[in-house]
Amino acid sequence: MISKYKNFLRRNIKKSYISLISPFKNIPSQLSFLYGHHLGEDSVRSEYLYDNLKRLNKNVAFISFEEACEIVLSNNRVNHPVVCFSFDDGFEEVVEEIAPVLREFKTNCCIFVNPGFVNGSDNEIAEFQSSRFHVKKYPASWRQLKKFCEKGGVVGSHTNNHFRLSELGYEQASHEIIDSKLLIEKQLDISCRYFAWPYGTAQDISDRQLALVNEHYELAFSAIRDSSVFYNSERTINRDHFEGNWSYDFLRYFLSQPKSRRILK
Ligand SMILES: [Zn+2]
Repeated sequence: MISKYKNFLRRNIKKSYISLISPFKNIPSQLSFLYGHHLGEDSVRSEYLYDNLKRLNKNVAFISFEEACEIVLSNNRVNHPVVCFSFDDGFEEVVEEIAPVLREFKTNCCIFVNPGFVNGSDNEIAEFQSSRFHVKKYPASWRQLKKFCEKGGVVGSHTNNHFRLSELGYEQASHEIIDSKLLIEKQLDISCRYFAWPYGTAQDISDRQLALVNEHYELAFSAIRDSSVFYNSERTINRDHFEGNWSYDFLRYFLSQPKSRRILK
């Protein structure tokens, strides 16, 4: 009980600390890859996201996902705070509600999808929701993803079935990494250039699996918030977490953390 209270206190002190300092903290001139999943589990709608992004856009430029990747691949730097957007798990509301908001800011996002979720039967979708995503959201269909691509969206792979790769044997992991790319390319008639591994931390993928990812994809993406832009090589990029229901102050606070191009491992 006491530790519950302490946690509550700690959370709320951190919240008020963030709202206190964030209006005064400058966002450094750097490129951040933001990633989220959905608009939130409550009744937050896309208007809330729009208002927050509008405030953020006064100080931070939004660029397309591919442009951000080009900047990193060509080892360029930015002279202004810049962000791009990506979303994991391929929920329908990203295509239907978040992507239109981003288009209003003349930018796009990359959605990392699991073909096993997109193609899933009702039972399989329920299994993804309960044991892997822990949220009752539904996948965008191939038809919706195709339209999303036609309007300038990018689709990457998040493996076939959202298993924790580090718990799989090499062969099964290879299937998850390579076949998902082939399925996405076949269904959407695109080149699937980017990969984000499920759960996204260092413990969730082995170095050997990541080397395989780097063989088949142009860039890989973690879910690690770190002061380094890169994870273990310049082909694997760390991303900063945010969700559609986060406040402007939270967003701004996290973007104000300086990044280096140091490679961690
Ligand atoms: Zn995921």
